[in-house]
Amino acid sequence: MPERSWCKGVDDALTAITRYLVVKRLAGDTITILAVKEYLVDGLSPSTIGHKYRISKFRVRGYVQRVMDKARNHMIAASIVKRVFPYIMNIDPVILRVSGKYLCLICNQQLRPEQIEHHIRRKHKDVVQDIVTQIVTNVRRHYRQG
Ligand SMILES: [Zn+2]
Repeated sequence: MPERSWCKGVDDALTAITRYLVVKRLAGDTITILAVKEYLVDGLSPSTIGHKYRISKFRVRGYVQRVMDKARNHMIAASIVKRVFPYIMNIDPVILRVSGKYLCLICNQQLRPEQIEHHIRRKHKDVVQDIVTQIVTNVRRHYRQG
């Protein structure tokens, strides 16, 4: 049934986008989340967003592209980001910056900036999965009602 496969597509996109944003938030990379949300949900231009957060508009486009790749549809991506955004922002980051160094608050390991996301995805897979499941369960209810 095409309708069912559409729902499955939305569901897969919901999980993938949520996981992407959860890892960013746990890593303390909130700018990426705000950039994606302000582009897809608020309709700001990449150059406006880039100027605001002092990153290039190409970088903003790159972040948005990563999210779009998971939904393959602008409206679905926008609708998912809009609904998961408040939950994402409620998560406490687990990376603490102490005098130029980064500390993982879950396992106390010191990390270099380029290690952070990989560390969270690999070493704290369960933490990520728990949060993703919680958010997806809450947000899914909305889509099932329609
Ligand atoms: Zn850790």
